[in-house]
Amino acid sequence: MRSKINLEIENTAHAPRSLDCSPADRTNHSPRKSLHKPLRIMKFGGTSVGNPACIRKVAEIIRAASRESDVVVVVSAMAGVTNKLIDAATRSESGNRDAVTAIFKQLYEQHSSAASALLDSPVDLQHKIHELLQQAKSFCQETIVLRQLTPRASDAISSLGERLSAPLVAAVLAEHGLASKAIDATELITTDSRHGAADPLFDPTRQNCQERLRPLLQQGIIPVVTGFIGATAEGVLTTLGRGGSDYSATILAAALDADEVIIWTDVDGLMTADPRTVPDARTISEISYREAAELAYFGAKVLHPKTLRPVMQSRIPLQIRNTFAAEQAGTRITPAGPSNVRVKAVAAISDAALITVRGRDMVDVTEALGRALSNPSSPAAEVLLISPSHSPNDTCLVVHSSAAKTLADVLRNEFASDAPHHQGEQITLDSTVAVVTIVGLHLCTASGLIDRVFSALARENVEVLPIAQGASECNLSYMVARRDMNAALIATHREFQLSELESEASAASSATNGPTTWLYE
Ligand code: ADP
Ligand code: ASP
Ligand code: MG
Repeated sequence: MRSKINLEIENTAHAPRSLDCSPADRTNHSPRKSLHKPLRIMKFGGTSVGNPACIRKVAEIIRAASRESDVVVVVSAMAGVTNKLIDAATRSESGNRDAVTAIFKQLYEQHSSAASALLDSPVDLQHKIHELLQQAKSFCQETIVLRQLTPRASDAISSLGERLSAPLVAAVLAEHGLASKAIDATELITTDSRHGAADPLFDPTRQNCQERLRPLLQQGIIPVVTGFIGATAEGVLTTLGRGGSDYSATILAAALDADEVIIWTDVDGLMTADPRTVPDARTISEISYREAAELAYFGAKVLHPKTLRPVMQSRIPLQIRNTFAAEQAGTRITPAGPSNVRVKAVAAISDAALITVRGRDMVDVTEALGRALSNPSSPAAEVLLISPSHSPNDTCLVVHSSAAKTLADVLRNEFASDAPHHQGEQITLDSTVAVVTIVGLHLCTASGLIDRVFSALARENVEVLPIAQGASECNLSYMVARRDMNAALIATHREFQLSELESEASAASSATNGPTTWLYE
C-alpha cells in the first residue's frame, strides 16, 4: 500500500523554448523516444538548493541535462532546514512550545520568501508550504502533550524539509519552461520500519518506481523526488538516516535501471580528504565502487555510507559534481576504477567510541555480540571495527558514539547470562576517540604501510591508540584521541603525497593501459 502523502503539484511548463519539442509533442511523437535517451538520476544536496540563487543554478543544470537525457531529480532539504526540524522535535519533547513556534515561523518565512523570489505566482506554493508545515507542527504538538518523541513522529517532523523543497524546485523548473512534478518518495521507496535508518525493500520499490515514474518520463515530465524519505508497506513515513538523499538517488537509479547517477554538491567531487580539514586535498577524477564505499562508510560526508549499495550489482556509474562549478568534470565512481594507485584518500569518523572488553577473547565477544544483536532493531550497524587489543584476552569494538552505551549494555547483559563460567570480564567505554581510515586498492599487499603511517604520526606527536588492525584489501583504520584527529588526517595525507595524486595518476594512466602501477611504494 502506498502512503497517502502526495504533494500533488504538477507543473505544466510554460513554452519550453529550449527543448527540441514540447513535453506534449514528445508524448505524442512516441513514448518510446524517451527510452532511447539515457536516464540520469540527479541529486542536489542542501547547499545546492540553499537559497533562490542556488536553486536557479540547479534549474539551469537540469535544463541542460534534460536536452540529452531523461532526468529524475532528487532533492535534499534547503541547507540547515533538517537541523532546525530536529531541533523543533527535540524541543517539543522538552515542552518548549515557544521555541517550536519560532522555528516553524522561521521555516515558513524561509520557504515562502524563496517562492516569492523564484516564482511569478507563488501563492499556490505558499499555501502548500503552509499546509505541510501545519502537518509537521501537529506532530510537534502531540509530542509536546506526550513529552515523548516517538521514532515515527521524529521521522514525520525531520522529513519536512524535503517535502518543502521538492515542490519548490518543481515549480521553478516549470518557470524555466520544463514540465515537472513533485513526487513524495513515500510513494516510491518502500522500506523496512527502522525509523531513522530505514532500508529499502527492493521489489516493491522497483514496482512503485516503474509504475509511477516511467509514465511521467515518457510524457517528458521531470519528476522531482524528495530525498531522505520512504514509507513502510503500511504507508508510515520513514527516513533513511542523515545525509540519506544520496542513498535515495541510488535506490531510484537501481529501481529504474538508470544509466547514471549524478550527485551535485558543494565541492568539486570526491576528494583525497575533507577539504575543510585538509586544505590541500585534491579532487579524485576516478575511483572504484569499493574505495568510494569504504570512504563513505568511514566518514567522507560527501556520500551517505550506504550510497553505493543499490548500484553495485547493476554497475550503474556515479558522478560527484559541483553545482557551483558545473563545468568541472568532478569524480567518476566506476565498478573497477583506475588501477594505477594504492592509497587514494583519507577519511575520519569524529564521533566514535571505543568499547574495551577485558577478560574475553575476540571470538567470544563477536559471538556474544552476534547473539545479542540478532534483533533487527538493535544497533548492529553501528559497529565500525572489532579487533583484538595489544593485551591478550582484551577485545576492542569501535562504534558510532550514538550507539555506544546501548552496545556496551547489550554486551554486559549477554555476558551476565553466562556469568557462572566467566566472572572476569570488565567492559569500559571511551567516547573521546576518532577513527582515521586510509583507503586504496590492494592495501593489504603494501609492505610497511602501517609502519609508515605510525612514523608519520609520531613525527607530529600524534599517539595511535593500541589496537591491532591489519590493512584489509581496501582500507587501513587506526584510532586516535578525537583532539588529534585533524593532525592525524593532515599527516597521513602528507605522508602519501595525496595532493600530488591526480597529476601522478594521470601520468601513469596515459603511460599505460597495462598492469597495475604502484605509485606509493
Ligand atoms: P550535500 O548537502 O550536497 O549532500 P554534504 O555536506 O552532505 O553535501 O557533503 C559535502 C561535504 O562533504 C563537503 O562540503 C566536504 O566538506 C565534505 N567532505 C568530507 N569528506 C570529503 C571528501 N573526501 N571529498 C569531498 N568532500 C568531503
Ligand atoms: N536533509 C537530510 C539531512 O540533512 C538528508 C540529506 O540532506 O541528504 O540529513
Ligand atoms: Mg549530503
